[in-house]
Amino acid sequence: MNSSTETTSDIEEKELIVHVLWINAGLSCDGDSVALTAASQPSIEDLLLGVFPGIPKVQFHWPLIDYHTGDDFIQWFFKADRGEIDPFILVVEGSIPNEKIKEEGYWAGFGNDPMTGQPMTTSQWIDRLAPKAWAVVAAGTCATYGGIHAMAGNPTGAMGVPDYLGWKWRSKAGIPVVCVPGCPIQPDNLSETFLYLLYQAAGKAPMIPLDKNLRPSWLFEQTVHEGCDRGGYYEQGQFVNGYGDKECLVKVGCWGPVVKCNVPKRGWIGGIGGCPNVGGICIGCTMPGFPDKFQPFMDEPPGGMLSSMISNNYGKVIRALRSITEDTVEKEPKWRHNRNELTTGYKPHWQKGA
Ligand code: SF4
Ligand code: SF4
Repeated sequence: MNSSTETTSDIEEKELIVHVLWINAGLSCDGDSVALTAASQPSIEDLLLGVFPGIPKVQFHWPLIDYHTGDDFIQWFFKADRGEIDPFILVVEGSIPNEKIKEEGYWAGFGNDPMTGQPMTTSQWIDRLAPKAWAVVAAGTCATYGGIHAMAGNPTGAMGVPDYLGWKWRSKAGIPVVCVPGCPIQPDNLSETFLYLLYQAAGKAPMIPLDKNLRPSWLFEQTVHEGCDRGGYYEQGQFVNGYGDKECLVKVGCWGPVVKCNVPKRGWIGGIGGCPNVGGICIGCTMPGFPDKFQPFMDEPPGGMLSSMISNNYGKVIRALRSITEDTVEKEPKWRHNRNELTTGYKPHWQKGA
C-alpha cells in the first residue's frame, strides 16, 4: 500500500482490518495505556466492536490488555515487519533513548531478535516498522517530545518520536507523526484521534489537521486558560493564596495561560476532574518544553506576576461595577406581586376606547 488512495480503496473493497501495533517499550510508565482504558468518547471497546458505522474493523495489539502474551504477542510485530499486516498504525508510548551513545547493552527493548537471541531495542522496532506503517502515533508527552525522561541531566539522551524520525517525516500514506501529548494523555483525546484516523483510513475524513507541534489541532489549539472555569476570577483579579480555594491559581504556579491543552474544558473522565478547574495547578504537561521549562512547578510563572498585578488592579474596578449590576439583577422586577392590580405595563389595545 503506497498511498492514502490505495489504503482507502483497499479498506473499502477488501474490508481489511486496520491493526494497531502498540509499543510501550520506550522510556515509559505505561500511564498513557492505563489512561486510555478510561476513554468513553469513544471507548476502546467501541472501536474494537465497530459501533461506529463507516470505520474499518480494528484489532489492537496492545501489551496492557492483550490476550496474547510473550512470543505469541510479539509475533504480530514480526508479521508487520515482514509485510504480512497492512495497513497498521504504529503507536509508540514512552520516549526513545539514544542507543548510539553507549558501547554495549540497551536502554529499552521489546521482545528478542530470533536471529541473535538479543533484545530488540525500541529504536530498532521503530526503524523497521515506521516505514511500513500507514500512520505513526506518539502517545503521551514522552513519546511526542521526550517528556520527563528527557529532562536535563538524564543519562539516556531520550527524545520524542518526531526528534527520532525527523519532524518532516511522513508515513507511506503521507501522514506526519501524529502527536497526542499529555502526561498522561487525556483518555478521550487519544481515542478520538484513533477514531479520526480510522475515518481517514476509510476515506471518510480529510488529512488529520495537526498544529506545528504535530498535535491534532481541534484538541490542542486553545490554551488551558481559555477553557478554565477559573478564568472569570483571573479577569476580576481574584487569586488564591494557598491551595483549596476556589479562585484563580496563577499565583501558586498555574501555567494555564500559555499551555495548549483542553483538559479543564473537557474534564478528565466523563467530564469529571481536570487540573486548574478543580484546584490543581497546570504544570504544562502537554508542552514540548515540559517539564524543564515549567519547574519549579509550585512557583508563580514569570509572566504571571505582572499579568496578575495588572488584572488585580483593573479587576477591582470591574468587580465594583459588576456588583452594582449584580444587585439589580438579583432582584425581581417590581410588577411581580399578588396585589389586586396589574402593574406590568400591559395595555389591552383590543378593548374599545383603549
Ligand atoms: S487557574 Fe490557571 S488556567 Fe485557570 S484561570 Fe487561573 S491561570 Fe488561568
Ligand atoms: S491542564 Fe496542564 S497539567 Fe493538566 S493535563 Fe493539561 S497541560 Fe497537563
